[in-house]
Amino acid sequence: MTVSATLAANEAIAARRAAGLEVLALGFGEAGIPVHPLLSQRLAKAAGKIAYGPVAGTDEAREAAAGYWTRRDNPTEASQVLLGPGSKPLLFALQHAVGGDVVLPQPAWVSYAAQSQLLGREPIRVPVPHGEGGVPDAALMRDAVREARAAGRDPRLVVVTLPDNPTGRLASEASVKELCEAARELDLVIVADEIYRDLVFKDGPFPSPSRWAPERTVTTTALSKNYALGGWRIGAARFPDSELGQRLQETVRGIASELWSSAPLPMQHAAAYAWSDPAELVDRVAMARRLHGAVANAVAEVFASVGCDVRVPQGGFYVWPEFGPLRAALAERWGVRTSADLVRVLLYEFGIVVIAGDAFGDDPAALTIRVAVTGIYGDNDSERIAALLSDDPLEMPWIAENLDGLRDKLKALVA
Ligand code: PLP
Repeated sequence: MTVSATLAANEAIAARRAAGLEVLALGFGEAGIPVHPLLSQRLAKAAGKIAYGPVAGTDEAREAAAGYWTRRDNPTEASQVLLGPGSKPLLFALQHAVGGDVVLPQPAWVSYAAQSQLLGREPIRVPVPHGEGGVPDAALMRDAVREARAAGRDPRLVVVTLPDNPTGRLASEASVKELCEAARELDLVIVADEIYRDLVFKDGPFPSPSRWAPERTVTTTALSKNYALGGWRIGAARFPDSELGQRLQETVRGIASELWSSAPLPMQHAAAYAWSDPAELVDRVAMARRLHGAVANAVAEVFASVGCDVRVPQGGFYVWPEFGPLRAALAERWGVRTSADLVRVLLYEFGIVVIAGDAFGDDPAALTIRVAVTGIYGDNDSERIAALLSDDPLEMPWIAENLDGLRDKLKALVA
């Protein structure tokens, strides 16, 4: 979504609210859960830490992040960890450090492509395996990389998202394994963005590329999604225990030293606590997972009930409906031909704010949208906390009302 489209949407939202009309804000990817008091206390205690810290992060936070990954079947030493002010700048620094062209799944989170463009290169987009999300199809990636190299381009990196924003899907073990084999064959570095990892709805082994391509996989995480602390700006990268990993880490450290110096020390102190997985916080993340899972599945059902193609969400807090089966009706009734047309009708006629699929690199004619379901959890912290603590979040009156409202509006859209 361009800035101007965002501003136009904001104005439309303000105008609707001023006219006393409802707005259902399902556009922005914030986790929508208040901060845990134990984390606030940690942060407050560390407010006196006003110095710049070591570029890679404090020993305390790097050790805690290493423990976080080790407990998640990715054995890690503190020396392999580098912290940053959120994972977004780390992802940018990684693209910069690897150099060359980046391969992205289509669709993929907006900022990977924007970061590639900031570095002066258009990404190479490769469709995801049918019905999946977050990783490029391995066979198509082989073709795309060979073609790109034959045309004089220099692909060196593939970025994957597990589980995925925007599709809400977790790539299958088979797809990740094949992706890893292809990356090794093509000599691509893999960046595995695992920021939503703690928010996978089902138990089971997690298909991290670090399992099948440990020598070439850099993994990133942050507190922004599992703990809903995007504004705290703290994230971490785990570099592989290999010569490539050491080289990349050194280059990223150099970039970090010129861009952000060090991740903020008070945040590192709070993050060290979170990454040590204390029982109180593990419970909190479990509740968040239950809430996201319940609402994402309910929202997917609402879209399916009016005739959209929509896959069952598997993690995070996004739903990715495709309105292709309703194409003729939408064109006739509203003149909708692209995802952006659809987003405009949803906003101006129904007060539903979502993001068009082409913002994530999808074909504009695909009629896809990304729905961030956290906008349904409540209008204020007390509603959101009640939803978080509830065994059955769908029973919360405001959540039920939002879901009913969404269903009624979508019925009217496709009628
Ligand atoms: N990666 C993905 C897939 C995201 O959705 C986001 C946030 O929206 C980020 C990374 C960036 O998170 P942060 O910079 O807060 O760590």
